[in-house]
Amino acid sequence: MPSVFTHAVAGFALSRVGMSAAYRWQLPLVAAFSAVVPDLDAIGHMLGVPYASFWGHRGFSHSIVFAVLWGGIVAWTFFRKAPWLAWVLVSLATVSHPLLDMCTNGGLGCALFAPIDNARYFFPWRPINVAPIGVGAFFTKHGLAVFMSEVQFVWLPSIGLMGGFFLLRRKANG
Ligand SMILES: [Zn+2]
Repeated sequence: MPSVFTHAVAGFALSRVGMSAAYRWQLPLVAAFSAVVPDLDAIGHMLGVPYASFWGHRGFSHSIVFAVLWGGIVAWTFFRKAPWLAWVLVSLATVSHPLLDMCTNGGLGCALFAPIDNARYFFPWRPINVAPIGVGAFFTKHGLAVFMSEVQFVWLPSIGLMGGFFLLRRKANG
């Protein structure tokens, strides 16, 4: 994975862009959290679930089906005022996680099409250095190199996306 921080930034940016006034802050925060949720499979990884198995790291939790299910549960539990919008945004934020993982240069690919197809996929273009599993390892020299590649390929585009929509919105309002 890219580090948890970077997944959260991507999820936050996605939903800030599409937010509804009713959930100006709740939705981006939940989306940021949702973009990290797939890596809760690291707990299973530490307990000995094989990496390449269906429930392993980057397995089912890193699929489109999981993202859509998770988005639906979250939307109809917490965002009843705008469930469809929340469903789309939370699902997008969640699926941004495996898509980012597929741009990393280490580990196994993601089971993006599970449970229909359990093969692991990467993108052909993988500029992001893979982060060590676990937060502790993040604060090392290697962690810094990982972080810089994430800033370059995720944080800057995220900030650009939010900034662009902010300007568009201002123009539309005035
Ligand atoms: Zn991951």
